[in-house]
Amino acid sequence: MRRTTILFIAWLMIGAAVHARPVVIAHRGASGYLPEHTLAAAAYAHALGADYIEQDLVMSRDDVLVVLHDVHLEMTTNVAAIFPDRARADGRYYAIDFDWSELQQLRANERINVETGQRVYPDRFPIQPGPFRLCRLEEQITLIQGLNQSTERNVGIYPEIKSPSWHAEEGKDLSAALLPVLERFGYLKPGAPIFVQCFEASELKRLRSKFKTNLPLIQLIGLDSWNHANADYDSMLTAAGLKQIATYAQGIGPHLNQILASTTPTGTPILTPLVAQAHRAGLLVHPYTFRTDELPEDVPDFDALVKVFIDTVAVDGLFTDHPDQIVNNLSAN
Ligand code: CA
Repeated sequence: MRRTTILFIAWLMIGAAVHARPVVIAHRGASGYLPEHTLAAAAYAHALGADYIEQDLVMSRDDVLVVLHDVHLEMTTNVAAIFPDRARADGRYYAIDFDWSELQQLRANERINVETGQRVYPDRFPIQPGPFRLCRLEEQITLIQGLNQSTERNVGIYPEIKSPSWHAEEGKDLSAALLPVLERFGYLKPGAPIFVQCFEASELKRLRSKFKTNLPLIQLIGLDSWNHANADYDSMLTAAGLKQIATYAQGIGPHLNQILASTTPTGTPILTPLVAQAHRAGLLVHPYTFRTDELPEDVPDFDALVKVFIDTVAVDGLFTDHPDQIVNNLSAN
């Protein structure tokens, strides 16, 4: 190779490192427009220009990886109408108590707050009647890979291992089930378009040490007030905590309020040093969740919010219910 060519490629690589466009991660698919985690929401996210489409994963009684945000079913399906006798003593319906053949009989719907009976996002897709069903991980991957072929794109997947400790107590091992599926669909090859995410550090470490995987891993960081099992998110947010995360993960997925602490009355964002600290530790930063219909307090509009994260703090990716809105912001830059 000629020296000028080598220099040009090196220049391109440096440029990519410094000015890499943040990736747009469709949070539960294009969930701002269609019921979350359905095949329709994944297809629409693909069409709206997302770079990655997220799949939250829980397990059925017969060990199928189901794309579902909660271990419970009643917020996003009609389970109570179809299987009224199958709630546990706490009144809740658990996906893990159903076989996949039963879960296939459910209709998926927009999220409702079961305590109030009210919709969580009132202006989104109507609740009833809906043609939507739950899907298993393989179905969603087949859809995304098929669309990649027909549109000549390379949209990635972004599975989340949900509540692995709880699943282990129930006798289920999500990671052990996930890896063969990823292998079958080509996602264990170096450079494949995938990130695997989890709130539980112990599970990400297990993927590295027990399963010896080189998958790109993202440590999700919640709020200590959520009382997640065994989690100490505040310590993850320190320089020492981030250095520790860098020993087993490629990046972090913090709550956006852990970066944008607040906004002054005149509209000036008050930012934490988290992104700079994480970058110093060599970690990518993919904050969640950017929603046009749920803005942080005192943020005037969605574009202003996105501008802070893209231009001012330079995150590496954004989880959003509205992928087209982020894509528009990036192409306007
Ligand atoms: Ca998730």
